[in-house]
Amino acid sequence: MRRFWLHRLVIVSVLLCVGTGQARAWGQEGHAIVALIAHQLLEPRVVKGVDALLASDADELTAHDIASESYWADKYRDSDRGGSKRRYLGTRQWHFAARELSAPSYDAACFGHPALPAGVVASEGPAQACVIDKIEQFAAELAAPRIGAEERLLALKYLLHLIGDVHQPLHVSSRHDAGGNATLVLVGGVKVRLHEVWDVNLVEGLGVDADGVAKALLKGMTVEERRAWETGDAASWALEGFEVAVRDAYGLLPIGGQRGLGPVYLDRGEEDVGRQLSRAGVRLAMVLGRGWWEGEGCELRRRIHTGWRLSACGGGCMVFPLWE
Ligand SMILES: [Zn+2]
Repeated sequence: MRRFWLHRLVIVSVLLCVGTGQARAWGQEGHAIVALIAHQLLEPRVVKGVDALLASDADELTAHDIASESYWADKYRDSDRGGSKRRYLGTRQWHFAARELSAPSYDAACFGHPALPAGVVASEGPAQACVIDKIEQFAAELAAPRIGAEERLLALKYLLHLIGDVHQPLHVSSRHDAGGNATLVLVGGVKVRLHEVWDVNLVEGLGVDADGVAKALLKGMTVEERRAWETGDAASWALEGFEVAVRDAYGLLPIGGQRGLGPVYLDRGEEDVGRQLSRAGVRLAMVLGRGWWEGEGCELRRRIHTGWRLSACGGGCMVFPLWE
């Protein structure tokens, strides 16, 4: 694992020089890992539908495979950052929910959870909205049979990305430091933003090939873990990430002075990141699977244990267990 550090430190140092100054949530690799895990877990019919919808995408910011589309939302946000900033200012807050450790409230971090104005689609919603509410809005659109094709594609692209973001502990927490963006730490003697450590360094510690990491994480998951993770909603996933931030991302930070991150911090961080990416992949598959069937007019009737079963689809009856 450690052999990747030198390489990644160079990349992070370059990023620091250009000064992004804003939380980005998982680098491209982290998002790709989440999407690739979900892709493996989806049923063949849903995979076909998801791939076909992505293939219809005419946007040129990313390629149209699921791994590339998983970071489209970051590319879109940053695409006019040096110019009009319409996209940047209009969507940047959708990627996080900065719940402060000293006064923990997702109501405050989510601007009081305002509803979408009547007749407005989620992709055109107000700038002041947090990642939790945007996931709920886009998931509802994906599951709505009458949503237009263009908005359905956008809902899919945002879900591919934001379900990753909400699992990044420093995107759902803050210690008056913009989710670790204003806290500098030393990794191998190099200054790095704490946020970047969790976005990039710890992910690359798992391996630098997204496909290989996704396969390894899938292989490492037990059926019991999948069942346990396949529950909740964006709000409970954020709370879970917040606990990881309190316990490890912030909790294990050396106090004061030169904050060098040693092997104990980095090993625990890699373990956390592997688990968070795995949870995100399982939950992305859950949201996409459910949304896909409901979007096709099927009705979700029953839940057995934590596996969803679907029935009453197109006049027929379809029942499938996810994890049995
Ligand atoms: Zn993001």
